[in-house]
Amino acid sequence: MEFSARQKKIINIVRENQPITSQGIAEKLGLTRAAIRADLSVLTMAEILEAKPRVGYFYIESFRSLGAWDRFFNKTVREIQSVPVVINEETSVYDAVVTLFLEDVGTLFVVNGESYLVGVVSRKDLLKITLESQDSSRIPVSVIMTRRPQIVTAAPDETIYSAARKIISAQVDALPVLNLQEKIVGRLSKTNLVRALVDFGSKGEEI
Ligand code: ADP
Repeated sequence: MEFSARQKKIINIVRENQPITSQGIAEKLGLTRAAIRADLSVLTMAEILEAKPRVGYFYIESFRSLGAWDRFFNKTVREIQSVPVVINEETSVYDAVVTLFLEDVGTLFVVNGESYLVGVVSRKDLLKITLESQDSSRIPVSVIMTRRPQIVTAAPDETIYSAARKIISAQVDALPVLNLQEKIVGRLSKTNLVRALVDFGSKGEEI
């Protein structure tokens, strides 16, 4: 495959400055991001460059030679997330507890009619209200849920390392995964992270 002069320049820029964002590459060429978009997609499709969301472009030979652990930490949330279990604000505490058992999860996400996240309910939130009140079937989860903006979220293209750090610093068991439209598209739990680690180990990756 023959590359244009500009594409060759881009390859050299990435080799020398990786990881580098498209903005960074454009600046070095004195062009706009839009002007190099097509070149970047040619080079990505030709597997010369690899685009890592929120990190930038890598020259692929060097990306492949990154250590196994680096590749593990750079996996994206999308690759290991599971399906979110959602309820709505009117769902009773009783039904939420039943859902927790039926779906075998520890965290429920509360959404409005358009699948926008409005709350999170954890195991202990439910235990607490169940101890405190007589009739959990009459109390809606909206009374006890943690609301936005307190909710810590993840993005599908975020690295699992970044998401794991959020879980630890927020001291929670799971993060809702939101797309750019802020709709809920996944659930990232501590279990997902541990499973990813075990899968990675069982594939016999060289560490
Ligand atoms: P548990 O309460 O069962 O130990 P967590 O540690 O996940 O489970 O939850 C602790 C508290 O944080 C709960 O009150 C819960 O509503 C809230 N919470 C759970 N997940 C999140 C999140 N992603 N962002 C913000 N708060 C959360």
